[in-house]
Amino acid sequence: MEAYSIFSDTIADMTWPAVEEAASRHVPILVPVAVIEQHGPHLPLGTDTYGAHLLCSLVRRELAAMGIECVVAPPFYYGMNLTTGMFPGSLSISSGTMRAVLQETIQNYARWGFAKQLIINHHGDPEHNRAIVETIKALRAQGIGATYVVGGIVQEFIDTAYEAVFHRRLPLEGDEIIRAVDSPATIAARASLTRSSLSFDVHAGERETSMIMRWYPELLGKETDIGELRPVPDSIRAFQEAESTGRWRELSPLGYIGDPAAAGPDNGELYSLEAADIAAAIASSIRS
Ligand SMILES: [Zn+2]
Repeated sequence: MEAYSIFSDTIADMTWPAVEEAASRHVPILVPVAVIEQHGPHLPLGTDTYGAHLLCSLVRRELAAMGIECVVAPPFYYGMNLTTGMFPGSLSISSGTMRAVLQETIQNYARWGFAKQLIINHHGDPEHNRAIVETIKALRAQGIGATYVVGGIVQEFIDTAYEAVFHRRLPLEGDEIIRAVDSPATIAARASLTRSSLSFDVHAGERETSMIMRWYPELLGKETDIGELRPVPDSIRAFQEAESTGRWRELSPLGYIGDPAAAGPDNGELYSLEAADIAAAIASSIRS
């Protein structure tokens, strides 16, 4: 039977002796981090969790092809959803709870012997990202090499959203953060695949819809004709106003920000290219 599972390719599908063996060689562990969150009328709540798991899985394979072994942790998916918390399905926990659980799970990985714990996150909420940053800072103070790997589809969005709310860049320095560099192939693919004239793709829009179409087509909502979904919002200003006043659901009653109708399975292939960029950045950081 083909396993349909966010445990596939992770240590959750390994035996303990296999985990002990990998940990004894101090290979890095990739930690997918996301949330359960409403993603419009057409995508599952787990969209970000699938995205983080997919990226880690693809990155692991890319690294293996370069002769670098790593393992993947089970996805961490209880995070913070302040901006879409008014929708049923957006599961949100407090910052303190998130930091405690993320920190303690990563302490386990370090104790077992995984020398680098590389967080790959797929959720742009600024408070969620602040919790990740503070977790990394706390772990570093304990001598644990937790690292934020920022790349691919969420790189620009995480930086932009964080800066808009906290008026500064992600406060991570040195080897606390690994930034992927887009390859020419990624840049070209991204430019050519964005068919929408609306350059505003924040949530359950073209890119995430394309990801689900390409990698998890059976999870697309059956009741919605995606081609009929109109772009939301009309302007960036309308979005910023809705964000700052908490009127997200008034702006987008269906729960997406972007242009899902522009999506297609080919666009979802971008994840492979971006995973290659992330793997290259991890490889150069490990080898330096
Ligand atoms: Zn998402």
